[in-house]
Amino acid sequence: MERYTGKSVLKGIAIGRIYWYRKQHYQVVRTEVPDKEAEKRRFADAVETAKVQLAALYEETLTRVGEDHAMIFDIHKMMLEDDDYLDAVNEVLEEGLNAEYAVETAQNQFAEMFASMDDEYMKARAADIKDISRRVIRILAGVPEDGILSEEPVIVVADDLTPSETVKMNKNKILAFVTVRGSSNSHTAILARSMNLPALVNTGMEAGEELNGKIGVVDGFHGEFLVEPEQELLDEMIHRKNQWVADLEALEQLKGKDNVTSDGRRIDIYANIGKVDDADGALAADAGGIGLFRSEFLYLGRENFPTEEEQFLSYKAVLEKMGDKKVVIRTLDIGADKKVDYFALEEEENPALGYRAIRICLDRPEIFITQLRALFRASAYGKAAIMFPMVVSVAEVRRIKEIVNQVKEELTTEGHPMKEVELGIMIETPAAALISDELAKEVDFFSIGTNDLTQYTLAVDRQNQKLESICDTHHPAILKLIELTVKNAHKEGIWAGICGELAADTDLTETFLAMGVDELSVSASSVLKVRKAVRDI
Ligand code: PEP
Ligand code: MG
Repeated sequence: MERYTGKSVLKGIAIGRIYWYRKQHYQVVRTEVPDKEAEKRRFADAVETAKVQLAALYEETLTRVGEDHAMIFDIHKMMLEDDDYLDAVNEVLEEGLNAEYAVETAQNQFAEMFASMDDEYMKARAADIKDISRRVIRILAGVPEDGILSEEPVIVVADDLTPSETVKMNKNKILAFVTVRGSSNSHTAILARSMNLPALVNTGMEAGEELNGKIGVVDGFHGEFLVEPEQELLDEMIHRKNQWVADLEALEQLKGKDNVTSDGRRIDIYANIGKVDDADGALAADAGGIGLFRSEFLYLGRENFPTEEEQFLSYKAVLEKMGDKKVVIRTLDIGADKKVDYFALEEEENPALGYRAIRICLDRPEIFITQLRALFRASAYGKAAIMFPMVVSVAEVRRIKEIVNQVKEELTTEGHPMKEVELGIMIETPAAALISDELAKEVDFFSIGTNDLTQYTLAVDRQNQKLESICDTHHPAILKLIELTVKNAHKEGIWAGICGELAADTDLTETFLAMGVDELSVSASSVLKVRKAVRDI
């Protein structure tokens, strides 16, 4: 048996087979093939497989989120039947070249053609062409879509995982994550938590293909990863896992109960989500609403910007699912560790202190306006609130409000129905906390992002695994900034919540209540745990 230690991201236990995750840097190469007819058949087979996959995706999405979202897979299937596209691929195959190269050539030709069109709808089809072509290429090359080539759910072990890679993974195929590197404050760790999966980062282990298929145990309570444990230890871990599941079941009794202390102090407990489907988990956990929808996850793991229509459908779906419960959607927070190729961001010396979040939105308003249009259009379908990340000044907030007003005017002229939307900001820089008295005059609410507030207050890079030991989230400086923010919010009659990971830290629940925090937004898996902590006070 081998035993490794790492930093635990979620307290839980997973037992199962290990899957070594290989990075997918699949590069298409141009080669000549000896038998062009066989290559044509290989392409035709791949197209058929892609169509079967798309039909399955259509059915799955239809039942999970409805026709509006599912339709895209039907359109993709039709695109794969388009004669012009198939002819373009076959033309290259006719020259005796390999199918991957032929598909990529056709993809580039069509994507360029669509992208150069004036019509916005047709322009957006460039992304679809890339999507279907990548699918066919992956099938031809035998590269699994989400990187996990396994039928049974597995413990995914990787060197490190980016948020883009994690967001693409199918939760049903994963029991736990273990990474060699990585920090527990990274967005990958946050994603694991939102998927309610035990996870360990920074194990520092020597890992590779040889782990594939071995039995592993992830013990998130003790930060341990066991590989091929002896039968006796395995039995003990199975017992402890059953105990953990039983404890979780006991928490279920708190569903439907109020978040109130024995002396009558109430607090809202909401959930953080990153994807449309996560709203189901929030509802299942009996969250009072969504306190943070990290909208940038809609931008990750894809080849091109999500269109206004795609975003509108996603926000609408979440709002409809949540009914009369509030949904706080954060505008995109791209940059730092959340990298997306199509944003073409330059390499930076200090990405966390760099061009990210609202800074990008104010500098490239066309991206911001597309998102705001989608958000305000979706507002008609539920109780939406919008918040803006990484604010440092009053001037930024005023500029944001100007753009918001312009968007609302345009939508009104175009006849789109909209509802009242609360506008808030994240307090995640010391600057924002320190001028929260002035900022409170400008907005309807504050949501304190303790993950970034910690990194900027303590000057500790949240991505740097070496600094975890000095990343003291209970540091008095951070608690003082939270207290100041809440006090200034209440002076102006607005509410203040916490949506960073610290909100779920039950050692601080009493402190937050004493400070007068109005809302805690936590991963769905922590909602009932925090409710219990509140009720025990
Ligand atoms: C935070 O910084 O606390 C926060 C909630 O935002 P993110 O973790 O996405 O940066
Ligand atoms: Mg943040």
